[in-house]
Amino acid sequence: MTMDSLNRLDISAKHERDFRRTILIVDDEPVNLRLLGNILGDEYDIDFAQSADEAISIIQSEKDAISLVLLDLHMPGKSGFAVLDEMRADKDLHNIPVVVVTTDKDAEVESLHRGAVDFLGKPYDKPEVIKARIGRAIELFIDKTIIGATGIDRLTGLMTKDFFFQYCQEYDKFHPEQQVDALVVDLSKFHLINDLYGRNFGDSVLKAMAEGIRTIARTFGGVACRHDADCFYLYIEHQKDYEYLKKTLIDKLFEVMNTTKARLRIGVYPDLYRSCSLQQRFDRALQACNTLSRNAHDTEVAVYDNEMHEKELYEGHLLADIGAALENNQISVAFQPKYDIGGEQPVLCGSEALIRWKHPKFGYVQPDFFVPLFEENGQIKELDRFVWSETARQIRRWKDMYGLTVPVSVNVSRADIFAPDLLDFLSGIVAENGLENSDLSLEITETAYTDSVTSIVEVVNEIRSRGFKVAMDDFGKGYSSLNMLTNLPIDALKLDMGFIKDIAIDNKEMHIVEFILEVADFLGVPVIAEGVNTYEQYHLLKKAECDIIQGFYFSKPLTSAEFGSLIERNRGLIRC
Ligand code: C2E
Ligand code: CA
Ligand code: CA
Repeated sequence: MTMDSLNRLDISAKHERDFRRTILIVDDEPVNLRLLGNILGDEYDIDFAQSADEAISIIQSEKDAISLVLLDLHMPGKSGFAVLDEMRADKDLHNIPVVVVTTDKDAEVESLHRGAVDFLGKPYDKPEVIKARIGRAIELFIDKTIIGATGIDRLTGLMTKDFFFQYCQEYDKFHPEQQVDALVVDLSKFHLINDLYGRNFGDSVLKAMAEGIRTIARTFGGVACRHDADCFYLYIEHQKDYEYLKKTLIDKLFEVMNTTKARLRIGVYPDLYRSCSLQQRFDRALQACNTLSRNAHDTEVAVYDNEMHEKELYEGHLLADIGAALENNQISVAFQPKYDIGGEQPVLCGSEALIRWKHPKFGYVQPDFFVPLFEENGQIKELDRFVWSETARQIRRWKDMYGLTVPVSVNVSRADIFAPDLLDFLSGIVAENGLENSDLSLEITETAYTDSVTSIVEVVNEIRSRGFKVAMDDFGKGYSSLNMLTNLPIDALKLDMGFIKDIAIDNKEMHIVEFILEVADFLGVPVIAEGVNTYEQYHLLKKAECDIIQGFYFSKPLTSAEFGSLIERNRGLIRC
């Protein structure tokens, strides 16, 4: 598809969504319905109602879709006024514009008083006049909702983030001497609350949070907003400690949750001298917030400190140096062996490609540290493609040297998945090296699935239909419902290392692993356990019929040369 046709597609999609609006025509006379329907049907979708009661019930159930109501005042039974009154009394409906149709001058005035925005005379005006007046009424209504939507968050009544930042700037202008705190308040695991108790309940939790946040903003002379779903920003006078603030929020949450399950993570950046920009202050508050575990048992507060500042500087260096790193061969790939433990003795059966960065000043930088950094700014795509290309070349070299194809899995970051040329790129590197698509498997982390289930399932289906294998990485770290798991298109499940850590000391952990193995067995997919460090862990996993193991117990990640020697030593034994 060319760029041009993509653009065209986009525009028409926007047109469909944005410009085709629905009008409800309320009239007891079928002939009038037909007449108005004919005049307006070209431009709008039309709904009909023939009585006040029917109209009210349609407006209530379709309130998000209806852009305007065209209302006849004279109907047998309840008149059109009843519809107007009902709409005005309901805060969800009173914004929908109503144009009344009547012959009676007094009724026109009366209906404007009761909330109608315009009227049409009977017999009907010219079609052009009707269309123009209706078009204008709808336009006015849209303007009003945009103003409402950009300034105030509909659910919580707090400011939206854009408005908030403007307001903070104003605040700074008028209070130049005031010492201030930027705060980020995050509700841990909010998606769980939504999933377990339903969206309505989730909304009431957010509203309660917002109330607490508003109280604090008022008490401490500041402003607040809802930044995204479950994350709030506060800009307030500097506090000596944050105990009162914490308690106010917890008490509010307790009112709705009536349980101590809900926890908050609060990050603070106190800027006593206004030394950095607003955005930077909130970034730092967020950084402080992110040092707190999402799994903590209590609400906690983290204040940005020196250590975090050092980390920020270090990250800055890494971000600046990555380009040179790629050019100067500082990036390489390590291969960690995987062993099939189904038989009498473990057999080498493949490996995982892992990125390595040897920085000239800092030495080896941990992928756990730099991968998330480049995931955030999108550069992970470039790094991953480097690793994939290098891996494909390496599989070829081993094939030439030892006459066998070692299956290697590569990590695919969330940022890679939706790249339109993902499959072309992968097929390209495989073809260039004379390999099959099935020689490469892709590890996609579980949390990517839980982020956006439907769209990812489509992509994964496509990847698999082209012959690549897909493993779900870090399984158990995110949270997939069993139901989702049964619908997922995958070839293997990689158990998160966190599970393996304690299986030899805690029976409960082992039971969980056994349960997952049963589920995988039911689904017919093999399980790879990684992070296996000890003989005890290996032994327990083997007993539980886990299929494949990757971990320091067998081998650390190796250079390509070391992995080559391993192949050599295992000749005849390898199941590749
Ligand atoms: P991961 O994909 O879960 O990779 C497994 C990590 O566990 C590797 O760390 C590996 O060295 C380590 N590991 C293996 N066996 C053991 C063990 O027995 N004990 C312990 N404690 N650790 C073990 P590494 O190479 O530091 O990578 C960390 C993470 O960085 C990876 O986790 C992955 O999320 C990411 N990563 C690594 N390479 C790439 C890459 O090329 N692309 C992307 N997008 N992410 C990568
Ligand atoms: Ca992995
Ligand atoms: Ca993993």
